[in-house]
Amino acid sequence: MGNCKGQCYQKSLSQTNNIDCTKLVIVVKTWQKDAFSLFDYENATNVQEQKFIINSGGYLVGRNQIEWIENDSIIKDELCKIKKKNENYFIVNPNFQNVDKKQVIQEKEECHTIVNKTVSDKIGNKIWKVIHENGILLQEEDVIKLGRVKFTIRQIALDIKPQEQRSECESSQSNGSEQAMCRVCCSSQKNPKNPLLNPCKCSGSIKYIHLECLKTWLRMKLENRQSDNCIVYLWKNLECELCKYNYPPKFKSDDAYYDLVELSKPNDYPYLMMEFTNKQGQQLEWNNSSGIYILKFLNVQELKVGRSNETDIRVNDISVSRNHAKLQVQDKKVYLFDNHSKFGTLHLLRSEKIQIQRGMEVQVGRSLISFS
Ligand SMILES: [Zn+2]
Ligand SMILES: [Zn+2]
Repeated sequence: MGNCKGQCYQKSLSQTNNIDCTKLVIVVKTWQKDAFSLFDYENATNVQEQKFIINSGGYLVGRNQIEWIENDSIIKDELCKIKKKNENYFIVNPNFQNVDKKQVIQEKEECHTIVNKTVSDKIGNKIWKVIHENGILLQEEDVIKLGRVKFTIRQIALDIKPQEQRSECESSQSNGSEQAMCRVCCSSQKNPKNPLLNPCKCSGSIKYIHLECLKTWLRMKLENRQSDNCIVYLWKNLECELCKYNYPPKFKSDDAYYDLVELSKPNDYPYLMMEFTNKQGQQLEWNNSSGIYILKFLNVQELKVGRSNETDIRVNDISVSRNHAKLQVQDKKVYLFDNHSKFGTLHLLRSEKIQIQRGMEVQVGRSLISFS
């Protein structure tokens, strides 16, 4: 909708032959209801619309009433910073993390503490690109938002062929150091691909479990099949039935770390794995209501996402439209498209800055910002 508007506007401008390429027209629409930083794409009531024509860098500031400020000494409630360089305009991402910072966070995670990932990116407003019907290419680590529900794309693995892998590590050596035995299958055989682990506080004869037996247990305990092509793992109440130990997202056994998300990966069909967080978009405590969606792309090109029972990927939140969006595979790549949803389909800006294209739209908080 906004896209078309931008184009039409440009057309009318060029028709009058009066176009000034160095100027940028910004239209900001702000939803006056403060509800989970949502913007209502369906309903124009309660929307404050403002227009700015700019010719240099500066800041959009404010909450309900937006202003354009070029003097950066008086910035309060910054919505979005715009930079101009060589006749081009850029949106500056206040949440951009350079590689060094990321490394620190990763290291923290390595050393077993459960880091609340959002703490590190609470620096400024998140800039979300608005996805329309023409869609975007998804990549690993991308963050998308449907209504107020956020997903991080953990892995895209479309090259896995059915019934591949398996049985390659049948050969096993029994270990000389006596009674270590799996509490599930009672076998003491192990090999590097299927070691005996001690992930909880159980001890004695029930101390160990095979990696593969643990995977099977995870599936039985957590797997929730939504449809033929979507499996959800909820980490809620993930504890050992015997010792009642609450599983952490990563655990250490012998000298190796194991990640439960990694262990949940399928190995016999092409899939996309995305992690979801709670409705406010914060990463919740482990075991509370976070989880992963595994989307199966075996013999399907398209999966529908929404609140309706007829969709492949059901997201049960009131801010998600019944038929909100769809994921499509084209040439081994996954694309995300919006389907005229009420609260939009958004894609988080992760790079340091993005060049403004005329017709582009971003959402920041409950403001929709369009450029032409
Ligand atoms: Zn076993
Ligand atoms: Zn246990």
